[in-house]
Amino acid sequence: AAVVTHEGRHFLQIPGPTNVPDRVLRAMSAPTIDHRGPEFAALTTEVLDAVKPVFGTTGPVVIYPASGTGAWEAALVNTLSPGDRVLIGETGHFSTLWAGLAAKHGLRVDVIPGDWRRGVDPAAVRERLDADAGHEIAAVCVVHNETSTGVTSRVPEVRAAIDAAAHPALLLVDTISSLASIDYRHDEWGVDVTVAGSQKGLMLPPGLGFNAVSRKALDHRGSLTSAYFDWDPILESNARGFFPYTPATNLLYGLREACAMLAEEGLPAVFARHQRHATATRAAVRAWGLEVLCLDEREYSGSLTAVLLPSGHNADEVRRVVLERFDMSLGSGLGKLAGTVFRIGHLGHFNDLSLAGTLSGVQMGLQLAGVPIKPGGVEVALEHLRDAG
Ligand code: PLP
Repeated sequence: AAVVTHEGRHFLQIPGPTNVPDRVLRAMSAPTIDHRGPEFAALTTEVLDAVKPVFGTTGPVVIYPASGTGAWEAALVNTLSPGDRVLIGETGHFSTLWAGLAAKHGLRVDVIPGDWRRGVDPAAVRERLDADAGHEIAAVCVVHNETSTGVTSRVPEVRAAIDAAAHPALLLVDTISSLASIDYRHDEWGVDVTVAGSQKGLMLPPGLGFNAVSRKALDHRGSLTSAYFDWDPILESNARGFFPYTPATNLLYGLREACAMLAEEGLPAVFARHQRHATATRAAVRAWGLEVLCLDEREYSGSLTAVLLPSGHNADEVRRVVLERFDMSLGSGLGKLAGTVFRIGHLGHFNDLSLAGTLSGVQMGLQLAGVPIKPGGVEVALEHLRDAG
């Protein structure tokens, strides 16, 4: 097997896991401590407080040693009962996976079909809820930022649709690739469970899953069961600074540091930075003469851009060339988008010159893979970055 060498930093430009800042890596390299001791209790309290503003909540945030999939499952098993109906907008690969997970738990899944180029249609949510006079739909599930397509659904408008239908369904939102990258407000937007993961906007390695939980969700407990994911013993234990199992101590050190970094920059600046990079990326894609997958400008993702290749060209070949020649990983097309799109992750620990390097690698990779592009995409992006600073 070939030995992989890195002559400089690898460019990890998939849309998560993202590049982990040196500060976070250093914070995590501290010795693991007794998870039942006083030092740990102080860490728990600090981290549970620091993470709340990132979700835009003053309520509890449950932290699991789990990937995002575990946090998805936790949101469902804590709030729903077997046979409950859940309504989910088909936005792409991840909404489809979440729907499949719900079905495995014996939930009846109503899908609002989509073409994987748009977000959840709030009018369609309203229509489905209006038709549900018996209030059988127990939850509306939305993937805020669909990582497979680079489309951000309009959560406040979905909330407004639920309210307009005067429907009691819970609103469960997956922010796995939007939290700490794209404006998000758990409390203000009336979200009941926000699902998140550590490995994207939070700039940590994979391994932590999150549920931010509303009062309504705490009061509306379903009868699906999971001993491990059950919020109650965790919240009870958290109140004393602990967890009912062995937590991921070193990832919590990292989370404390990442929250400090986000607070130092300020969330509005974090969101603006991501928007700037997303806008510059789309400008480059268009200057190359290529198409952005997202069709609705209200729904462009701030954290990643999915680029559609002209027919007859394979996106995986572009990714292969970029990795081999420039040591940069780009995201593949997932599910039915395999081979037709590649995804540029521009989220997390990322600045203007990281984007300049990323787009340079993409431009050269497209040319080397024989994709017909117009020159100058990188220059257009640089002009945007220069003038938008
Ligand atoms: N939801 C979204 C939007 C995602 O992007 C991902 C992973 O990329 C997941 C869910 C699943 O999370 P995990 O792979 O951490 O289990």
